Amino acid sequence: MDFGLNETQKSIQHTFRDFVDRDVKPVAAEIDEAKEFPLELFKKVGGLGFFGMRYPEEAGGTAADIVSYCLAVIELARGSLSLASVCAMQSLMATYFLFRFGDPRTKTEYFKPALEGEKIGGICMTEPDAGSDLNAIKTTATAVADGFELTGQKTWVTSAPVADFFTVLARTTDRDRLSIFFVPAHLDGVHVGRNIEKLGVCGSLTSEVSFDDVRLPTEYLLGGLGEGTSRLAEILAEIRIMTGALAVGVGTAAYQDALEYARTRVQFGKPIGKFQAIKMKLADMAVQLETAKQMLFYAAWLSDRDLPRQTEASIAKLYASECANSICDEASRILASYGYAMEYPMQRYLRDARFTLIGGGTSEILKLNIAKDIGL
Ligand SMILES: Cc1cc2nc3c(=O)[nH]c(=O)nc-3n(C[C@H](O)[C@H](O)[C@H](O)COP(=O)(O)OP(=O)(O)OC[C@H]3O[C@@H](n4cnc5c(N)ncnc54)[C@H](O)[C@@H]3O)c2cc1C
Repeated sequence: MDFGLNETQKSIQHTFRDFVDRDVKPVAAEIDEAKEFPLELFKKVGGLGFFGMRYPEEAGGTAADIVSYCLAVIELARGSLSLASVCAMQSLMATYFLFRFGDPRTKTEYFKPALEGEKIGGICMTEPDAGSDLNAIKTTATAVADGFELTGQKTWVTSAPVADFFTVLARTTDRDRLSIFFVPAHLDGVHVGRNIEKLGVCGSLTSEVSFDDVRLPTEYLLGGLGEGTSRLAEILAEIRIMTGALAVGVGTAAYQDALEYARTRVQFGKPIGKFQAIKMKLADMAVQLETAKQMLFYAAWLSDRDLPRQTEASIAKLYASECANSICDEASRILASYGYAMEYPMQRYLRDARFTLIGGGTSEILKLNIAKDIGL
């Protein structure tokens, strides 16, 4: 097995690393404090080809492998988890079903501009009474002449206030199963509700979205009727790998800051990194980060070869997100009062990292999936 990155992967890593150090890190605090969608940077990320990485060249993408995609996500998340989250959502969940099942017009008007960062998409799965349990979804798409009528309430929709279109998971009454629909945001009956104030990823806006008798033409059904759950399963592993990469990115940022601080902060006449208690913390963090990366790249490697990867993706996401939170916690202790000060980024990492415990499946749900995969 080859553990090295190839030249293309190294080049993608360098491109995103340079971009993040130059354009993202200096404004990451502003993104967090402004609580506004980081449109300018989002478009720059589009200019780097990020939104098309997972799509073939003939569809307007750059056909990168998922290892490369992970490298890019890690770098973006190292700079700003808010920016990385909205970009990652756009590049995978918001656009995938349009790529697979969109009609030519929709692809021209929405999918291709979305790859450039010129149109923004949101994914609407979660509802007030349906989070981990998507079978509880109540939003319905009723078959009518020439299409469907969509009615229901979604919540926690990332990028909703700025979205041009949504991909919506809804119950189709004639089969009582879930289906996926494309919904342009400007249609009559689409309402973006209140912005949900959050603990972290504050530059990633999240809102309720309601659909009141929204008329959809037949071609806005993405995939077959009742195929929503199985179509979603096509990218479930990649969603988990992507969320794991977000976690590794924010964990890396916290680790790097803590390491630098341990080298330079002097107490009792020496840098605190010379004290064994601090050394142990940083060594533990390095072990966690390296292990999380190896697991993540293994799951990505399997995905690139189209090999079974559900269990590995669940393990990678679970481990990376738990480690990221533990690393942010320990890193904050190393900075002590400065880890508690709003003017230092450590508090942001700590707040932002919580998101990775939820998005892409909570730790409890991932453990249930892993237990099922191992035969329990
Ligand atoms: C910042 C952010 C952005 C998001 N963006 C989007 C988005 O763009 N689109 C979208 O559709 N959704 C989005 N979500 C929603 C996210 O997908 C859900 O929050 C997630 O699926 C969990 O659902 P829930 O919060 O309703 O928790 P619940 O499912 O209600 O879970 C509550 C608790 O119970 C546990 N639990 C649930 N079921 C079980 C079980 N069977 N066994 C053991 N424990 C269980 C959970 O692990 C958790 O600890 C976002 C969430 C956040 C925080």
